[in-house]
Amino acid sequence: MTKLTFDYIVVGGGSAGCVMANRLSENPDCKVLLIEAGSKDWHPYIHMPAGISKLVNINSLNWGYYTEPEAQLNNRKLYWPRGKVLGGSSSINAMCYCRGHKKDYDLWESSGNHGWSFKDVLPYFKKSENNHRIINEYHGNSGYLNVSDLKYHNPLSDVFLQACEESGYNITDDFNGSKQRGFGFYQVTQNNGSRNSSAQAYLSPVKSRDNLTIWTKSYCQKVLLEKNTAKGVEVIRSGKTQSVFASKEVILSGGALNSPQLLMLSGIGRTQDLSKHNIKTQHDLQGVGMNLQDHLDVCLVQSCNQKITYDTLCEIKAGMQYYLFKSGPGTSNAAEAGGFLKTDLNNEEWPDLQFHFVPAILDDHGRNRMKGNGYTLHMCYLRPESRGKLELASNNPHQPVKIYANYLTESNDWNYMKKGFEIQRQIFSASAFDELRDKEIFPGDDIQSEKQIEEFIRNKAETIYHPVGTCKMGNDELSVVDGKLRVHGIENLRVVDASIMPTLVSGNTNAPTIMIAEKISDEILSSV
Ligand SMILES: Cc1cc2nc3c(=O)[nH]c(=O)nc-3n(C[C@H](O)[C@H](O)[C@H](O)COP(=O)(O)OP(=O)(O)OC[C@H]3O[C@@H](n4cnc5c(N)ncnc54)[C@H](O)[C@@H]3O)c2cc1C
Repeated sequence: MTKLTFDYIVVGGGSAGCVMANRLSENPDCKVLLIEAGSKDWHPYIHMPAGISKLVNINSLNWGYYTEPEAQLNNRKLYWPRGKVLGGSSSINAMCYCRGHKKDYDLWESSGNHGWSFKDVLPYFKKSENNHRIINEYHGNSGYLNVSDLKYHNPLSDVFLQACEESGYNITDDFNGSKQRGFGFYQVTQNNGSRNSSAQAYLSPVKSRDNLTIWTKSYCQKVLLEKNTAKGVEVIRSGKTQSVFASKEVILSGGALNSPQLLMLSGIGRTQDLSKHNIKTQHDLQGVGMNLQDHLDVCLVQSCNQKITYDTLCEIKAGMQYYLFKSGPGTSNAAEAGGFLKTDLNNEEWPDLQFHFVPAILDDHGRNRMKGNGYTLHMCYLRPESRGKLELASNNPHQPVKIYANYLTESNDWNYMKKGFEIQRQIFSASAFDELRDKEIFPGDDIQSEKQIEEFIRNKAETIYHPVGTCKMGNDELSVVDGKLRVHGIENLRVVDASIMPTLVSGNTNAPTIMIAEKISDEILSSV
């Protein structure tokens, strides 16, 4: 029987995988297969931005991971949604378009990753971007990814920005220009009021290419290796296990949790851990699954004495307006405004805290629906020092990896969270909110002492969904891929997704992940 063979196999049709599939199949001589575990992105809540409030609860679109008990967070197991659908997490995310700070990339470069300074990555941010408003040297206007201003925002978001100004913070209309610092409205990955996921942006326009094959509902179980060369992958499709081969390369774009899991299931990882699960080591690579970093977030929630928040919005009316005219509250991404702030006086111009303002009560990722009207301010520390890790739970590919986020295990991270919490309260106490403010819901007015605030953080902090670093790029003993994202010690195998970031960027992670894929696909195509 002839072997089913493509030039490139991309595993995972998420933020990075869709870019890889598009760009590699631009060359008509390259036969590309994209394998995605989830379904096509048909669900209407994906496309209507306000659907984000429902997406965390739709199990068929979401891997729905949980961490192991977190010691610093009163042993809570934290919920980690990740997209399981074409577009991956970009199909369920909050659409905020942020790149982080220039110094994040200069740090990648200075820590040994030649070619990843801001100067090097800026052209790929621009290449990916079709910014609908901003035309200057920091932005692109002809890329696949549509970036626009929100078509609609809640009046409370204006009040929030007034409160920020009143509190002494500057207002900006671009977090991705010459300066990141300040508060303002987020630009969003939307096109005419609809979500522009990586699948919508990069796959929809090219899915009919003859040399591009897309398999959905297809679960990759491992990479097939011959000695130290990747030859293909093993996939479960329509209930059957099959092997499919790559004449050039296998590219893992399964995200920060699944790509390292796939490496480990294939025998690439820490021998001491693999042997516990009877997996034969093909290549001992100590960094696989290590160096896990994430932004931990805490929400201040305030009651509002007027029915103007999204809590009591008429969903039917908003849905009709969205489907008929692509306008109104249905186009809101919920996290409409926010900003970046620098508290560390030694770090000129490099913000260390990020805020997202939501004109609604938000608790437990929106899973705890509470009565009443309110507004919420998220806050996270952008450059945590705490490091976590992933471990296989077993050699069964269908069993999720064990996630040890190890949040707040470094005392400095605590300092920033507490400083940030003070700023959340400062902003909500500004007089701009005087006519709207009712009692504080979380943590509540009686929580005032440092000890009480610490306990509040232990009880309530959650992920803001930015895990990275588990297949770190670099040359040290914990690095998994080199500067071209080739897995150390293995031929024809790359990892291209958020897992390769050596350190977290100071902002949301979708645009940086797309940039990474733009850069590496360019690298691959120019060497074909
Ligand atoms: C709820 C939420 C809100 C967020 N909000 C924002 C935001 O507002 N702005 C922002 O910039 N970032 C945001 N993020 C983060 C951002 O979306 C992610 O960092 C980014 O999407 C990661 O891209 P990726 O390609 O690494 O992984 P993903 O996009 O998660 O893609 C991985 C893909 O691989 C597939 N896959 C995994 N394993 C297998 C396998 N074995 N076989 C086949 N397929 C597999 C998955 O199903 C998935 O489709 C958010 C994330 C979440 C979850």
